[in-house]
Amino acid sequence: MRIFFTVIDLRSDTVTRPTPTMRAAMAQAEVGDDVYGEDPTVNRLQSLICERLGFEAALFLPSGTQSNLCALLTHCRRGDEYVAGQTAHAYRYEGGGAAIVGGIQPQPLEFQIDGTLDLDEVAAVIKPNDPHFTNTRLLCLENTQWGKALPLDYLQRAVSFARTKGLLLHLDGARIFNASVAQNVDVCKITRGFDSVSVCLSKGLGAPVGSVLCGSTEFIERAHRWRKVVGGGMRQAGIVAAAGIVALEEGVDRLAEDHAHAAALADGLKNIDELSVDGPHTNMVFLTLSPIVAQDLKVYVRERGIIVAPTADRVRLVTHLGVCTEDVSTVINVCKDFFATRKAA
Ligand SMILES: *Cc1c(COP(=O)(O)O)cnc(C)c1O
Repeated sequence: MRIFFTVIDLRSDTVTRPTPTMRAAMAQAEVGDDVYGEDPTVNRLQSLICERLGFEAALFLPSGTQSNLCALLTHCRRGDEYVAGQTAHAYRYEGGGAAIVGGIQPQPLEFQIDGTLDLDEVAAVIKPNDPHFTNTRLLCLENTQWGKALPLDYLQRAVSFARTKGLLLHLDGARIFNASVAQNVDVCKITRGFDSVSVCLSKGLGAPVGSVLCGSTEFIERAHRWRKVVGGGMRQAGIVAAAGIVALEEGVDRLAEDHAHAAALADGLKNIDELSVDGPHTNMVFLTLSPIVAQDLKVYVRERGIIVAPTADRVRLVTHLGVCTEDVSTVINVCKDFFATRKAA
């Protein structure tokens, strides 16, 4: 049965609403002033995450964007450079924050089809030590990358590559638990060797607000200062951190349901001749459609209680805790009807 929603909203897994357990935990949360490090609930969330991800320290932040920004500001100095995917969130979708706030220059590279960055291409853009160039300081990977879990052997290679080249290594792990569930490995195995990892609690895990940045104790001390600088010190943040704890305790294993729903959705949609379906990739399915057809589809499905958000070249469908098994069949049937109606017209 679908919870909370009167519509089937496939735009993103950010649209989820807190579960009754989260609301209860929030209402009862013990709090203190987190800017002084005195909020017991925030502290508990931070230690839970460090333990899970295998890091010394962690920092609770209001958003994944701010978490990536604080990571970049902590790793890089003004005039340094970070290498990231052309369509990486930390480059393309964060308003240029690293450049605006930190004077940090991005070096974007195309992602490979599997969501990785080709390490030879990364090697080729590392700048030589010469006054003409900036210092290439950091390599930033994303996992999952548009739903794709990065191959584990690639992660190992990336870690030794970064060490060899003297680069720091950050993981935008907004959906890292989708990767660990899909690959059926402990999340520690995915984060091993990274200097920092950012995790979103507010995507598939279902918390209303919050991300956590992990790293060494020394790194997190410096990131803490940056969090204050960018306005992310939240005082009695235990109210929202309490939902994050529930998200971690109850949300991780549940992600397998989202992956099963995405798989069923992709299977059903693949039977529609007019559709080119990419996926499932963890909790995402992509449809390649011309912008005009995508726009018509958006309107058609909206009239039937389904929300999708086409971009220039495709439609991304994301499953989450507000999407149930019956919804998947509904979406497949409505899409079938849409194309049948067009054919008839
Ligand atoms: C959502 C997302 C973020 C940022 O999270 P916000 O909380 O929306 O700022 C960062 N990276 C990736 C890959 C994301 O999907």
